[in-house]
Amino acid sequence: MKVTIVGAGFAGLTLAYQLLEQGIECEIIEKQNKVGGLIDTLPDENGMVETAANALMSDRNVENMFADLNLNFAERLPAAKKRYIFWEKPTRWPLTWSTSFKASKELFKAFVRGDEEAWPESGESIEEWATRLVNEEFCERLVSPALQGIYAGDIRKLSATLILKSMLKDRPPKGDFKGSVAPPGGMGELMDKLAGYLEQKGSPIQLKTAFTMPDYITNPLVIATSAWNAAEILKTAKPLIAQVLERCESLPLIRAVCFFQPTDDDLEGFGCLFPTKEKFNSLGVLFDNCVFAERSQVRAESWIIGGALNPSALTASDPEVIEAIVADRARVMGSHARPLTYQITRWQRALPHYTCAWEDALRDLKNEPPLYLHGNYLGQLGLSRILNRSVTLAAEIKANHG
Ligand SMILES: Cc1cc2nc3c(=O)[nH]c(=O)nc-3n(C[C@H](O)[C@H](O)[C@H](O)COP(=O)(O)OP(=O)(O)OC[C@H]3O[C@@H](n4cnc5c(N)ncnc54)[C@H](O)[C@@H]3O)c2cc1C
Repeated sequence: MKVTIVGAGFAGLTLAYQLLEQGIECEIIEKQNKVGGLIDTLPDENGMVETAANALMSDRNVENMFADLNLNFAERLPAAKKRYIFWEKPTRWPLTWSTSFKASKELFKAFVRGDEEAWPESGESIEEWATRLVNEEFCERLVSPALQGIYAGDIRKLSATLILKSMLKDRPPKGDFKGSVAPPGGMGELMDKLAGYLEQKGSPIQLKTAFTMPDYITNPLVIATSAWNAAEILKTAKPLIAQVLERCESLPLIRAVCFFQPTDDDLEGFGCLFPTKEKFNSLGVLFDNCVFAERSQVRAESWIIGGALNPSALTASDPEVIEAIVADRARVMGSHARPLTYQITRWQRALPHYTCAWEDALRDLKNEPPLYLHGNYLGQLGLSRILNRSVTLAAEIKANHG
């Protein structure tokens, strides 16, 4: 039996790798002329430029994969432990004492005691849940910037059930390391190593080939693309599945990597998130050169712009994007410095919007063996969770067809 996988992004490549672990060969079909999908690492005269993810959360699956690929973890820097949220100024903890006390009590009820009242109701948005559970301050100053920084969504629409479930459900096995990890050469190195490993073990990747769905399939077929590309592929052969997938809203996003002359005013840490109320142009910024060693000789920052609340940002020209960043940066670090060099990646359709409407739609989305779906729209956005789904999906395919 040979499995066909459509899409050589993180989902497709890690599934192929997990199928090989189960002794099952595959062929991977990719429409672009390179592997990685959203993920790539580009060179710049001042350092490394990531186009999407810059790291993944470590766990046992991630550690095993890095070991199999003969990949090390990049050295993590101690400054990365400091994370900031902007509330009048960059702060490590934006909540007042009384809200902090109430939040810890209510979160204990929800996450440790599992009280039903503290848990979100089906169809409840993140804004409704966080305000009901604690108060508006908890929602505005902590929950909203933290989730907008990850999901780029609108907290009035983001599904509390989907997001909290994804944190607690199907957790990958714990490993020896905690926190974010990446290869020394950036995330592109991981994708290239995965592709090389698969080719070497007899699972070829066919690039520059847009897959079209045949009328009839006998061998397992996994569509490991975005929801909107999967809808397109399945439109004729599987119209009911395609109609559900079409309900997935996509979010536009910019990742602008900027290199600056280092100064004493530079904030050291993992990065800083911006609450909507503070009216920044960006959703947040990552201080790339403070997270992993040898990312840049100078100050490197990744500014994330766009998302559900600012989709028109994608139409801004490069100089307009840089103006917006310089203005935001002046508020965070008090410096009006302009970047030495920069590279801007625009994703018109970057991420699925995890709305309450999508929570509804997901209930109707089921695998119909030998056809399977895989990707970041099925409940888990982060890479380590996608890898974990690759592990369970490979086992399911083996059980059904092995
Ligand atoms: C700016 C940004 C920052 C992020 N940061 C992080 C982070 O730090 N940590 C983290 O864990 N996650 C992060 N993410 C999320 C993570 O990068 C994505 O969830 C993940 O890369 C999605 O992988 P995928 O394989 O599901 O989809 P994709 O990467 O979209 O891959 C799908 C592939 O399918 C191919 N394809 C589509 N249609 C066809 C067809 N008809 N035939 C053949 N091939 C086809 C596409 O060309 C593509 O290569 C970030 C995302 C963005 C946009």
